[in-house]
Amino acid sequence: MTQQPARSVFTAARVANEAVDGWLTDHAVIVEGDRIAAVTPKSQLPADIAGTAELFDLGDVSLLPGLIDAHCHMHCSATGDAQQLAMSEDVPVLTMRAVNAMRKALLAGTTTIRDLGSHNEVAFPVRAAVEAGVIPGPRMLLAGTPITITAGHCWFFGTEADTTDEVVSAVRRQVRLGANVIKMMATGGMFTPTANPRRPQYSAATLAAAVGEAERSGVQIVAHTLAADGVQNCVEAGIHNLIHARWYDQDPDAELDYRPDVVRRMADQGQWVDPTIGHQLLGEEAKSQHGLAGAPVHWAVSAKEITVSAHIELLLKMDEAGVRFTSGLDMGMVHAYHDLTAANAWAFVEWLGWSPWRAIHTATAGTAEAVRVNGIAGRIKPGMVADLAAFEGDPARNIRNLNIASTVVQSGRTVKLNNRALV
Ligand SMILES: [Zn+2]
Repeated sequence: MTQQPARSVFTAARVANEAVDGWLTDHAVIVEGDRIAAVTPKSQLPADIAGTAELFDLGDVSLLPGLIDAHCHMHCSATGDAQQLAMSEDVPVLTMRAVNAMRKALLAGTTTIRDLGSHNEVAFPVRAAVEAGVIPGPRMLLAGTPITITAGHCWFFGTEADTTDEVVSAVRRQVRLGANVIKMMATGGMFTPTANPRRPQYSAATLAAAVGEAERSGVQIVAHTLAADGVQNCVEAGIHNLIHARWYDQDPDAELDYRPDVVRRMADQGQWVDPTIGHQLLGEEAKSQHGLAGAPVHWAVSAKEITVSAHIELLLKMDEAGVRFTSGLDMGMVHAYHDLTAANAWAFVEWLGWSPWRAIHTATAGTAEAVRVNGIAGRIKPGMVADLAAFEGDPARNIRNLNIASTVVQSGRTVKLNNRALV
């Protein structure tokens, strides 16, 4: 680990403004300890600045708040055999995988990650090691093991809980371990051969009991849901963030079952959605560029293949209805490498037609709010923790310039400088 200087100054041709919707040209970010002290035009820096602070002149780069990803699985490999590896590998191997993945994520510019499902024996020790400065990694919000039914989605790294009482106990156990967020599997999923993605795993009443318990403990609660019935249950239960929020009809011969009234209530209740379209975009690109097969089609959806454009059409309707989206890649799933959080922003621009600034705002300040770290992270603003990521080129002109960061600052400490890793 590099030593943290008392005072450092980062200058760049473009620095994101406080609202994260435009550039400040030729500005300097002054960092004291782990916090941003001031943002000023470069021309107004005192002449003797180099004598009183460590000066990093980053040149023609775009300096953004560190990226925030709301959906990670730190121990999953992102390779075609991710599922088999997650089922077969033991805790030491999964831990080494997670350590490597978290370093990669940080060096790509992701300074905060919310992990939504990893073994407790992996996730909590990895976070403790990062916080102790033993290994590099982003700030971590952790669910630990997701809560699922017996043989349900991700049972092989989840806590199996079937009844409402078992679910409430499972929530309490995660809180005891130090979870900042509870992850429920409200329906089956593609990653688990035994779990039907078109059907709910829990009733709205059981989910509501879990929400009550999470809120009593002051932690957030999110749920994976691919089916229309699961989305409705999550909305009725008041789940804080919905993950995927797809609309599979429960009939395998039918396609999607979009429910505008449920979406209206979702928007009214302020429930964020992680549409995981960055993951989908990476999957489509891998297929077209390398002829690689995506994840094998699940038995319960194979009766009818649902196109990407059908999903996009419904995401556009949800967007129009006022539902807010998070930037969450589902890191660790097939093709979703831990250094590619930027793919979410690419998909928002290229598939949903958003402006680049709207996508950049979502990747930083927006997702900070969704994962409840907006008091400290997500903006370049005095008082915030000094988490910064610099990108070559201008992502506000071409969103693909938001990719792997060339310089990364975490809590005031430079962990990567001009494409050279320092940790
Ligand atoms: Zn996931």
